[in-house]
Parts: sequence; structure tokens; C-alpha cells
Amino acid sequence: MKKHNFYAGPSILSEYTIRQTADAILNFEGTGLSLMEISHRSKQFVAVCDQARALIKELLHVPEDFEVVFLGGGASLQFAMVPFNFLETKAAYLDSGYWASKAIKEAKLFGEVQIVGSSKDDNYSHLPKNYQVPSDADYFYFCSNNTIYGTELHEDPHPGVPVIADMSSDIFSRPIDFSSYGLIFAGAQKNLAPSGVTLVIVRKSMLDKVSRPIPTILNYKTHVENESMFNTPPVVPIYAALQTLLRYKELGGIEVIHDMNKQKAALLYEEIDTNPLFKGTVTCKEDRSLMNVCFVMSEGYEHLEDEFDKYASEAGMVGIKGHRSVGGFRASIYNAMPIASVQALVDTMRSFAQLKTQK
Ligand SMILES: *Cc1c(COP(=O)(O)O)cnc(C)c1O
Repeated sequence: MKKHNFYAGPSILSEYTIRQTADAILNFEGTGLSLMEISHRSKQFVAVCDQARALIKELLHVPEDFEVVFLGGGASLQFAMVPFNFLETKAAYLDSGYWASKAIKEAKLFGEVQIVGSSKDDNYSHLPKNYQVPSDADYFYFCSNNTIYGTELHEDPHPGVPVIADMSSDIFSRPIDFSSYGLIFAGAQKNLAPSGVTLVIVRKSMLDKVSRPIPTILNYKTHVENESMFNTPPVVPIYAALQTLLRYKELGGIEVIHDMNKQKAALLYEEIDTNPLFKGTVTCKEDRSLMNVCFVMSEGYEHLEDEFDKYASEAGMVGIKGHRSVGGFRASIYNAMPIASVQALVDTMRSFAQLKTQK
């Protein structure tokens, strides 16, 4: 039976990415060697890394004054690297969920953190609204897509200070207006590659600004100057990332992918809103994520949760259980998710409702 992979991360990758990477692991570009056993400084691998960085710039229309680097340590290392490199006195943070609050915890080690908005009291079921960013903040930090709660900010903010964003779970899902950004980062394992590499896009004028000494490996400048080869980079995830990017280009670019994502999300939210058994957990519809769709059983049907879980898994749905802090279900429908799989989930929800509501 076909499996439909709705895991939140690591998550679905295109068959193209997986096959190309598998081939390169067996024989990398006809060298007779595995991708895993050649020097990261070989001309073949340097070309892979350079091409991947160039394609990111091309696909996202990254302006000239930004640099693209690949780092290790996951998105979580960025929670500490960002304040280490940029927080001189005070930074503004938006508390929109689990990942944002982890970043806030790290930033407090480096300076004053002003939480300008929080939706914690509502269990992060919407984005914080109507907040003010102080003009003397070193930067404004936010998480663009809250993977666990299914909320997403669909526009790029322009608060008047440099903006830093955790885009781990929605990068490449929509075009980005870079005009206010100082830095964007994303762990690879949602829309790019297997885990192990983190993408950082940083404005050059942000580098070298704080007065504290920064360990060499934690300084963004090191990685910019060494073109992601300061130490051995994660070669297999970078190769896989290049394959994903080539596929994005072939599909027509990020604008086309954005349209596809809107269609997929609309299909699933429409079912959640009309099926009597289910309801969405995000309380402001404009905050609904295109990537992570959270829903629970409606009032009166709560007792059917485990039964639906089993019913859906028997229909081939994998990874739809919600995060423990929200409960219910979460369908992650990243770029690589075909609309046919979303339709399969919708059909499953519909047939389950028919089964349960017919007398
Ligand atoms: C998955 C995720 C992370 C964590 O990434 P790691 O690579 O495991 O550190 C951080 N932020 C967001 C928004 C995520 O979705």
C-alpha cells in the first residue's frame, strides 16, 4: 500500500532527491568513489556546494549584499549563535511557540531580551498581534512558521530594525522580501534535505558588529569567509539539498511552489471546516500555516480520536499524530508532499465521518 508521509520533521523528500543522493552515495559523479568518502575540498564536491549556494540565491532572489552558508548544529545552534553574534545590548523577540521560546532562553544569556508579543496564554493557537518593536533593539527575532502549533506569518515584517527569522519549516514555501532581514536560518530537514545541515542567509553588513569576542567556529564571519568549508561540512545533506533545489527550479521556482502549497492547504482546511467530526486548532484563520495543518476531533466526537488514528494509518497515512502540547492531529504538507496525498487524507477523513454519522 502507498504510504503518505505527513511527518513534521524529518519529513518527506522528493523521490528525485532520495534517488539522486542514493546514486551518489554508491558512485559520486563517475569517480568510482562514494559521496561519503571523497574530500570535501575535491573539485567535484566544491562544485556541488557552490552550485547549491548559487541556486538558493537564484530561487529566493537573494540580494547581492547577502551571503549563503551551510552550517552544522541544526537550527537549535542558531538560537545561541544569533545573540552571540548580534546582541550587543537589547533584542526584541516574538514569543509565538516552542521554538521561539527556546531561542528566547538562549538570547537571555547574552543581553536584555524584550518579549514584544506572546500568545502563550492561548497555548499559541494564534500569532501575537499588535506588538511594537523598540527602535533601539539590535534586532527583531521571530519564527515564521510554528511547526508544532500550525501558525505561520505569511508576510515579511518591517519593524525598522534588522529582522532575524527561524524559517526552518517554511523556507522555500513562498517568496521572501529580503529588504528588512539581517539573517534567515533554517534546519534542512523540512523543505530541503535530510537533517545535518543548516542553511543561513546573512546580510554582510551584520557581520563583525558586537564587541564581545566570539569563538572562531561560532562566528558567522568565519563561515562566510571560508565559503562553508571552515571545517568539514555535512556533505551528504548538502548534496541532497542541491538535488531538492534543482527539482524546485525544474518545477518553475518558488512562486509556482507557493501556489501549489496554497492549493494543498486550502484542500485540507476546507475539509476540516466542513467535516462535522473535525475542527482546526488555530483560532485566527489568517494565521493558519500552509505547512503544518493542526486539527482535533470536534465536541462530541473526542472519544473517536484513537479510532481515527488507527483508521487513517490503515489507509496509509503516516505521522499525523499531533504534538503532545496540542494533541489531536497534525498533517505536515511540505513542498515535497504531492496534492494526491493531501486528497487521500481528505478522502480518509470523509469516509470516516460517513462511517460514524450514518444511522
Ligand atoms: C524543526 C525545527 C527546529 C529544530 O531544528 P533542529 O535542526 O532539530 O535544531 C527549529 N525551529 C523550527 C521552526 C523547526 O521547525
